[in-house]
Amino acid sequence: MLNVPSQAFPAPGSQQRVASGGRSKVPLKQGRSLMDWIRLTKSGKDLTGLKGRLVEVTEEELRKHNRKDDCWICIRGLVYNVSPYMEYHPGGEEELMRAAGSDGTDLFDQVHRWVNYESMLKECLVGRMAVKPAVAKDCHEEKRILNGMLPKSPVSDPVPTEDPISPSYDWFQTASLVTIVIYTKQKDISLDSIIVDYQDGSLRAETIIKDYAYLLHMGLCHEVQEEFSVRAVENVGKIEITLKKRQSTSWKCLGQPLEKHNSFTPKKDSGLRYRKCQLVSKEDVTHDTKLFCFMLPASSHLQVPIGQHVYLKLTVKGAEIVKPYTPVSDFLLSEFKEPVLPNKKWIYFLIKIYPNGLFTPELDRLQIGDFVSLSSPEGSFKISKLQELEELFLLAAGTGFTPMVKVLNYALTYVPRLRKVKLMFFNKTEEDIIWRSQLEKLAFKDKRFDVEFILSAPTSEWNGKQGHISPALLSEFLKRGQEESSVFLCICGPTPFTEQGIRMLHDLHISRDEIHGFTA
Ligand code: FAD
Ligand code: NAP
Repeated sequence: MLNVPSQAFPAPGSQQRVASGGRSKVPLKQGRSLMDWIRLTKSGKDLTGLKGRLVEVTEEELRKHNRKDDCWICIRGLVYNVSPYMEYHPGGEEELMRAAGSDGTDLFDQVHRWVNYESMLKECLVGRMAVKPAVAKDCHEEKRILNGMLPKSPVSDPVPTEDPISPSYDWFQTASLVTIVIYTKQKDISLDSIIVDYQDGSLRAETIIKDYAYLLHMGLCHEVQEEFSVRAVENVGKIEITLKKRQSTSWKCLGQPLEKHNSFTPKKDSGLRYRKCQLVSKEDVTHDTKLFCFMLPASSHLQVPIGQHVYLKLTVKGAEIVKPYTPVSDFLLSEFKEPVLPNKKWIYFLIKIYPNGLFTPELDRLQIGDFVSLSSPEGSFKISKLQELEELFLLAAGTGFTPMVKVLNYALTYVPRLRKVKLMFFNKTEEDIIWRSQLEKLAFKDKRFDVEFILSAPTSEWNGKQGHISPALLSEFLKRGQEESSVFLCICGPTPFTEQGIRMLHDLHISRDEIHGFTA
């Protein structure tokens, strides 16, 4: 691991440079990689200048520390001296300085909510914000207090009137079961809208409705078994969680409310939660890409919606490292021997191992039975975009193929008016093509599906197309079966590939509404 080249880390093309919304990344100086930062934090050097003391910071005090060489930032009520971290920040110093001397929580959440700053900046902790005496009135008010200080501008996300109505819940019991019913008030609710975790006597059920999350969070008054069932009754919009009592006593109440119980808040305000998943199998797919299968704990219900990703977390050299991955479905895998496991508890990933990467070699070292932490799903893909579709175009480069797998399956299975799906798949060499024979078989079996492989570094034997994404390739690819077809296009690959591709598509008069670019 210590061989990670460090002169410009992550490298300009590195996967760690996941750009969000065009966020620019800067080359880092030699000796300023993430591994270098981890080494510095473990060196025992006083990074706060406070010799290990923790202080209570007032707003006035925080505002004074607003220079590069003396820069304090508050994140969720905790104040960090980020000056020593400046040169290591992959987004550059300017990006960090935007929050200098102030509450950077919202800025941080917009850019990389999933980064474990508590672990990364542990040695930079100065102390806590002095909490203002205030009474929480609603969820926004509560957030302001949690952040430790009032935002500079009025709260930016008041709940507009057209937002969904808050769900409610109820419960009932039999001698052996306790059933909790969540009335979502949404007719199209499905099992991937709810994430349930039961741990150490507490039950946490998060229901996602549009961009909001309804949280049921209780310390149960009696013990239940680890396994439970979850059922969505779509036509009435209710979700039922059925728990098995350990003892058949009659419950007088469900339990004690825990943090944020019965709240309905913007999804972006709820933190990512992790649960430990066990590695069940690992199969070679290409020379460097593997199919990993992880099993969720019996005490969790989680299904990753189409087009969304999760974060996997491992401890590398004592620091928690988190990277995003997009689960795939197994519909292309007729030959793959599925592990015999109970209902939908396993999640598949196609992951490319980069020998000099920070995370993937560590993941590859996991043995069957080892654990990885897996987050709740994230992502902005809207499945509604596919429902009225007639022609679907998929552009993928390398592992950018992963989100296409579930999209392709959904379109071919559930979109009634679909006439055509075309996949243009860019790779360096033939050896790099993921699931080539499965894709070719599918194209043979289902006449609505076509696949074309484009190689950037083929051998002389390659008869197919070669090169990179270009306006010429795209205009050929985008020829529609019928002039007025309703179309949708998905694109995913290295960030510059996706960004260039989207620009080219705009130039070819494909509207913004008709494109989904997968970025972090
Ligand atoms: P990194 O440490 O990021 O390194 C990647 C490459 O850069 C390596 O080749 C490494 O050698 C090189 N490199 C690193 N440092 C230097 C340096 N200083 N100089 C020169 N070269 C350097 N990937 C998948 O395989 N499957 C998925 O399903 C998937 N889904 C994703 C979903 C999303 C939303 C996003 C944003 C990314 C996804 N990725 C996926 C990519 C994934 O998150 C990681 O970026 C990837 O696995 C690389 O991680 P790493 O830490 O091993 O490599
Ligand atoms: P790769 O093998 O390095 O490249 C795949 C193909 O894309 C190659 O033909 C390559 O050509 C081409 N390419 C690379 N950069 C390009 C650019 N700037 N312009 C045009 N073509 C370019 O890819 P990979 O290592 O598998 O990486 C896949 C990427 O997809 C990663 O960055 C990953 O983060 C991203 N990803 C994102 C998601 C998501 O949901 N957002 C999901 C999965 C993966 P060359 O031979 O010239 O390099």
